[in-house]
Amino acid sequence: MSILIVGAGLSGAVIGRELAEAGHAVTILDARPHIGGNCHTERDPDTGVMVHVYGPHIFHTDDQGVWDYVTRFATFEPYKNRVKSTVGGQVYSLPVNLHTINQFFGTAMRPDEARAFIAERAEDIPEPQNFEEQALAFVGRDLYEAFFKGYTEKQWGCDPRELPASILKRLPLRFNYDDNYFFHKYQGMPRDGYTALIQRILDHPVITVQLNTTYDPATGGDWDHVFWSGPLDGYFNYDLGRLGYRTLNFERFTAQGDYQGCAVMNYGDRDVPHTRITEHKHFSPWEEHEGSVLYRETSAEAGPDDIPYYPIRLVAEKELLTRYIAQAQATPGVTFVGRLGTYRYLDMDVTIREALDTAQTWLDTQKAGTAM
Ligand code: UDP
Repeated sequence: MSILIVGAGLSGAVIGRELAEAGHAVTILDARPHIGGNCHTERDPDTGVMVHVYGPHIFHTDDQGVWDYVTRFATFEPYKNRVKSTVGGQVYSLPVNLHTINQFFGTAMRPDEARAFIAERAEDIPEPQNFEEQALAFVGRDLYEAFFKGYTEKQWGCDPRELPASILKRLPLRFNYDDNYFFHKYQGMPRDGYTALIQRILDHPVITVQLNTTYDPATGGDWDHVFWSGPLDGYFNYDLGRLGYRTLNFERFTAQGDYQGCAVMNYGDRDVPHTRITEHKHFSPWEEHEGSVLYRETSAEAGPDDIPYYPIRLVAEKELLTRYIAQAQATPGVTFVGRLGTYRYLDMDVTIREALDTAQTWLDTQKAGTAM
């Protein structure tokens, strides 16, 4: 069968590979001049440092199948994400752990003491309905206001009470000195970057990739099936209205040696305009570079010409999303996939898992169809 995949990011590459291995001819289009979507990495021309062009991507998963999949295509170097946050002129350890608590309150508590101390401060909200309630129930007001409120207002451009509680559920709270940002068993960084990983996934004789090519669903051509990983509302030419996205802006600057001592420094204060600064060389600690390249990151509402990064999913947007999902389900011959195609905040491992499952389901359906 002839398959068109729109978007050469993780979803498109993984689905393309699975279908190609099953014997289908796959064409993948991407509007950008490179593969990899927002995972794209490239070497900075001035410093030679591998740069996460669309912001930090750290691979982590508990899914054995996904880990086996990515390590089949790339060598992963051990990498632990250790994030710091600058708040009120001091640097704290993240995610909130015993060190953060003792630093912030000027104490020397042991785990049980800190647990009791935070339990006392945490607000009694049995079923948190939004980000703020979730945070207050989680860590109490002091820590919420220092580490989450300002950052979240900057990152999402709205009151944390308008955001779903699920955003905060991504972050752990620990009563020990473990400052690993993620819980997952497997964590690492592809040695040659994410674009090289995705290039290897795409490297198959029956996969054709065309860059700098936009696809118009209205005049798209004759395909047996289309997998769309572009924006869900974009497929329908935004005819019901636009789903909200945050876009990111990166102000690049260079330095000599080590500028900030870690890969990601968050800025919790509301009056500091940026959310974080990324020093890319720390993502590849096995390489040596004299120079350093950094991205100062700010977040803004995505306009029609901006790159969409984070689906906002405001409570008020749910109805529009439901209508688009109904339209998508009523579109024969097209499967909507990935972060943009399903309008969800997906980590890379979940994206790969879903792409593998989507490909398998599609192949099973074909087989069942032929058998009938
Ligand atoms: N967050 C925060 N302060 C921080 C880091 C994160 O308030 O220092 C909140 C913020 O709302 C963010 C969410 O927690 O969007 C999830 O954080 P994560 O680090 O997973 O965000 P990502 O790296 O995916 O942007």
